[in-house]
Amino acid sequence: MPDSRRPRMVIGNWKMYKTHSEAERYLTDFIPHIKDSTVEIYLAMPYTLIDLGVRLTKGTSIAIGAQNMNDASEGAFTGEIAARMLVDAGASFVILGHSERRTLFHESDSMINRKVKKALQSNLRPVLCVGESLAEREAGKTHEILEQQLKNGLADVSIDHLSQAILAYEPVWAIGTGETATPQVAEEAHRFIRQLIESLWGVDLAQRQILLYGGSVRLANVPALMEQPDIDGLLVGGASLLPDSFAQIINAIHTLPIGKET
Ligand code: PEP
Repeated sequence: MPDSRRPRMVIGNWKMYKTHSEAERYLTDFIPHIKDSTVEIYLAMPYTLIDLGVRLTKGTSIAIGAQNMNDASEGAFTGEIAARMLVDAGASFVILGHSERRTLFHESDSMINRKVKKALQSNLRPVLCVGESLAEREAGKTHEILEQQLKNGLADVSIDHLSQAILAYEPVWAIGTGETATPQVAEEAHRFIRQLIESLWGVDLAQRQILLYGGSVRLANVPALMEQPDIDGLLVGGASLLPDSFAQIINAIHTLPIGKET
């Protein structure tokens, strides 16, 4: 069970799904199901839905955010979006370094680092995703990759800002594949990340750092994942697209006992 000093959190990643009317129907259905939840709920929406999402979730504990951004303040970058535009639309967080961005859009660690810093300067909470591919895991390189992505992704970020960042361990081989990491495999990676944070930035930050697991999360694997001491919550893609299945995941976490301080 995770440390009770850290909030339990679930982020839904809608990826490139949903129109206005679909989002409206979703939220009308979803909000009554989670209204008493003690779990922090974040929804990462397509840019076109952020404003609507913010309006429809007003008065609830749901935070609305984006799935990417550019690191420049503004400029001639056709098709891109700036942090200040996301803030203007009401976003409070942004997913950065998702494996789909790293692999399909060739985002490098240094580009992701610039985005992380820009998000923090702009009052957007970054959700930095890290994770190894199947080939890297099979070659025994999981720790090396995690260390590289974390150190590079968080380079030159001040300790005060670091405590604002959320980290998500998302093994590439588990995203959208139906193959969830076993709770033991996920916990081992989370423990490694927490120890790395402790060695780099101290025990205080390591104990407060929110670490999420993402990769084919389904209701059936939620309790076993959430029982692990270093997993504070979940980043959910496919299963967040239907209001019922996402609410069930959140409510399953809500009913789990809260851990003790370690
Ligand atoms: C994700 O988009 O980050 C993700 C984990 O997707 P899925 O739950 O569909 O594997």
